[in-house]
Amino acid sequence: MSGVSVTKDVQDAAGAADDLVVLSNVNKHFGALHVLQNIDLSIARGEVVVVIGPSGSGKSTLCRTINRLETIDSGTITVDGKELPSEGRELARLRADVGMVFQSFNLFAHKTVLQNVMLGQLKVRKTDQAAALEKAKSLLDRVGVGSQADKYPAQLSGGQQQRVAIARALAMDPKVMLFDEPTSALDPEMINEVLEVMQQLAREGMTMVVVTHEMGFARSAANRVVFMADGKIVEEAAPEQFFANPRSDRAKDFLSKIL
Ligand code: ADP
Ligand code: MG
Repeated sequence: MSGVSVTKDVQDAAGAADDLVVLSNVNKHFGALHVLQNIDLSIARGEVVVVIGPSGSGKSTLCRTINRLETIDSGTITVDGKELPSEGRELARLRADVGMVFQSFNLFAHKTVLQNVMLGQLKVRKTDQAAALEKAKSLLDRVGVGSQADKYPAQLSGGQQQRVAIARALAMDPKVMLFDEPTSALDPEMINEVLEVMQQLAREGMTMVVVTHEMGFARSAANRVVFMADGKIVEEAAPEQFFANPRSDRAKDFLSKIL
């Protein structure tokens, strides 16, 4: 659409021109539970959004809908202007545009670290072997585990495994990275090594959605904090504003318990 001038109003109606991920009026139920309620959320290219909220508020479900690990009942979700199909080869390809890092590292236990980072490139992106190998090595170096390439996941610490999981997601050249409580399962001394890799990614301009209880990370890396409770986005604001002056009682109550 370059060269076409669009008024602000039209842009807002369609999501701003720079929005990479757009959820519009998304609803999802698990049986009687209305787990996502009229969710509207637009994430700009290069933006880092931290999602916080009490356990059970729908944060993980929100993440999972973005790459169709969960279906939605109504509304739309687009990534870079495209709605994800519900199945098929096209889904696998588009899903790879959305990197996901979970609390449990989900590495393939019977594959080496290097193979873990090469696999998606070979199978989904159809990268040739030599290029996949080179990229895997370079990514493992970048997250600080290059020397562990030939080991199996179980031989690594939790912090190292999570950094491999990040490298594996990055190997697909994702347009956006989703992190669902990536440090919650880690021993305390390993949390920072993972957060530092995430901080670096944020500085490099990666678009990121991060569900976390690490408020230090939220303060230093987030452009925006989204607070969820009971399946709704209750409030959103820049971190300095949100932490200094939460508006809703739910957010005040939540912050009083975790800070
Ligand atoms: P959060 O990540 O904020 O803790 P979740 O998105 O995991 O919240 O869960 C939101 C609610 O949905 C919880 O009540 C949870 O028990 C329920 N839930 C999550 N996944 C499922 C599922 N697959 N089937 C039924 N209920 C689910
Ligand atoms: Mg969760």
